[in-house]
Amino acid sequence: MERCFFCGKMSTTYNSQGIPMCREHKDYEALNVKCPACGEELEVMQSKWGKFFNCFRCGNVSMHKAKQACNVYFVKKR
Ligand SMILES: [Zn+2]
Ligand SMILES: [Zn+2]
Repeated sequence: MERCFFCGKMSTTYNSQGIPMCREHKDYEALNVKCPACGEELEVMQSKWGKFFNCFRCGNVSMHKAKQACNVYFVKKR
């Protein structure tokens, strides 16, 4: 099961960036999602276990870790 990147509740859908979100937060985009190690922007990737972030220098970064480590903020899309 994937969790909403915004609030941690069960995610049922994805936002426009492909990040798992709950229904309430699907219109939000996550900004400033950066690698905790090197500061590069992270890409959203898909595996059979679900979505994850990838840094092209450092490899995989868990969504939880990325959110803890950087000042991720959310903007509601209109
Ligand atoms: Zn949510
Ligand atoms: Zn990195």
